[in-house]
Amino acid sequence: MRVGGGVYPKIIVIGAGFAGIGAGARLLEAGKRDFVILERAGELGGTWRDNRYPGCRCDVPSNLYSYSFAPNARWQQTYAAREDIWDYIGSVADAFGVAPHIRFGHDVVEARWDDAGHWRLTTSQGEYRCRFLIGATGSLAEPSMPSIPGADRFAGIAMHSARWDPSSELDGLRVAVIGTGASAVQIVPALQPQVAQLAVFQRTPGWVLPHRLRRVPRWKRRLYQMVPGVQRLVRAATYWQRELVVVSAFTKYDGLRALLERRVRRHLARQVPDPELRARLTPDYEIGCKRVLPSNDFYPALCRDNVELVTARIARIEPEGILTDDGELRRFDAIVFATGFRVSDNPMGARILGRDSHVLAEALAGDLPCYLGTTFPHFPNFFLLSGPNTGTGHTSQLFMIECQLNYVLDALEQLDEPTTVAEVLPSVAGAHAEDVQRRLRTTVWTSGCASWYQNDRGRNVAMWPDYTTVFRRHTRRFDASDYVIGRVPGATATSALDAAGEHRRPATPPAEHR
Ligand code: NAP
Repeated sequence: MRVGGGVYPKIIVIGAGFAGIGAGARLLEAGKRDFVILERAGELGGTWRDNRYPGCRCDVPSNLYSYSFAPNARWQQTYAAREDIWDYIGSVADAFGVAPHIRFGHDVVEARWDDAGHWRLTTSQGEYRCRFLIGATGSLAEPSMPSIPGADRFAGIAMHSARWDPSSELDGLRVAVIGTGASAVQIVPALQPQVAQLAVFQRTPGWVLPHRLRRVPRWKRRLYQMVPGVQRLVRAATYWQRELVVVSAFTKYDGLRALLERRVRRHLARQVPDPELRARLTPDYEIGCKRVLPSNDFYPALCRDNVELVTARIARIEPEGILTDDGELRRFDAIVFATGFRVSDNPMGARILGRDSHVLAEALAGDLPCYLGTTFPHFPNFFLLSGPNTGTGHTSQLFMIECQLNYVLDALEQLDEPTTVAEVLPSVAGAHAEDVQRRLRTTVWTSGCASWYQNDRGRNVAMWPDYTTVFRRHTRRFDASDYVIGRVPGATATSALDAAGEHRRPATPPAEHR
């Protein structure tokens, strides 16, 4: 697969996180060996490699947070710690023989469609070319640093939660944590016992749920090992409980949401006796609108003597600390930015260039329609994993990735002719994207809070608006009639699109989306 100065595999996957390793495993399982995975870092693991903050673990039950084709009987806890998940990803790569396909230290600077049937990639280590490109770069990969005035002048330790420096000694220091999302609720209880003072800067309180975190007893792990069907049953029960209760509450039934909210309010009342603190921790938006936060130790940590919850707005960061808009300057030795990720403005989007000067960034921002979170008009032979509107917020993201992998594998099977170029019809993608937005309107995710699920204009670019079973049904098969397909050497989807008169077609959704 080496041609001229460049490397020319049939398929290139960008990213060796969960999605990229899953893609590699499925490709190999299907007998497709002509691929490489380009990974910018020196190790695999994606978000589970990058997030090394104390207390980091998955808030989805471990039996569900694995690939169905690679069960793991060794989970130590009902919600796995980050190290165990990282090990798991590595074990999948080894078990399926994916590791030899990974090229580490390959930062993809640009991937450009060349209109002659290829993607041309410029990487930090040379040129690549392929027929099919699979983006597995992750939606929660790029830290979001807030634009707080003076942030660059802070004299102490400053780090983002997803770029934790394990060599930073925080013992006995005065530490600020900015943010109270999924990362912060794990960091705060882990830091509280070791630091002298901890100030938690909250802009919007989250809904914090009772957490069912337990050790998995050894006998159970052995049982899962010896009778894998038992673990499959437990996994199925967990999946359906979440699907029927949580998705129903978030997407269909307000009454169910109200019940859930009452239970969660009791958790707050039980754990925070001080009514003034409790009032400041009580959300004023519907449960589920932002990601819900399972934790049994976040509220107790906030009640400790060395912890202060700060709800005054941050005015600026000074070299010695944080100034709030009530004029108070708090002094710190370290600031932790638990401020989330760049999702709709993920910088990776600017590096992938399709036909007619279209850039993937347009699609991530919601300005180009996306079909099934996976394909886009103007991006022939390109598939994005964990793309727009494939988020769940209640179940395992791996389920959605697995659905997408089924779809991509079926597509690759059907597009196996050496010169095939396929691009989703703009009418199909447009109708699907409209349908997703229409259905989102009756979900909790458009009920009025601000979150990373929306872009800067308030359009929800993250969440799937229905049961994940519906997504699975839509992605079970690649339907070639949703695509313009060119088959002649040098033929591009452009010419095929023009020949099909697609630009004049009315925007009619395919039957299953109507
Ligand atoms: P996040 O949910 O986006 O939370 C960011 C926090 O920072 C919010 O509390 C936000 O306040 C606050 N913030 C942002 N800019 C600020 C500013 N200028 N001043 C003050 N506060 C500011 O980010 P995250 O906690 O890293 O979680 C992101 C996602 O990663 C999660 O939703 C989840 O999908 C994933 N995650 C998963 C796990 C897991 O266990 N599986 C763990 C961690 C993260 P506002 O709410 O007011 O915007």
